[in-house]
Amino acid sequence: MRPPPFRPGRGPGSEAARHAAQAAADRRRRAASPTRALYGTARWQRLRAHQLAHEPLCRACRAEGRVTPATVCDHVTPHRGDVALFWRGPFQSLCKPHHDGAKQREEQQGRG
Ligand SMILES: [Zn+2]
Repeated sequence: MRPPPFRPGRGPGSEAARHAAQAAADRRRRAASPTRALYGTARWQRLRAHQLAHEPLCRACRAEGRVTPATVCDHVTPHRGDVALFWRGPFQSLCKPHHDGAKQREEQQGRG
């Protein structure tokens, strides 16, 4: 009885298997966020422009007594990848620091 011949680059734990697993994980991540691609659509650009025209100042800065131009159309209710909720809103205008800060806080609380 001879042992089976060693084949580099095959089987579990090999480089090829690791790459395949990585590619599968990337596909799962993309599939888990169907709304990510929606940010690139003309419909979202129009919606965002409408929101920023309607409310040109950062809502969070206004609450702190500051006047800052808003650049981000933010979902008041986190849509969590829900396409219907993504389009329905409601929306609020935020500056980028407030938008990014809010998202980071959500992630730290495990709700992001
Ligand atoms: Zn702000």
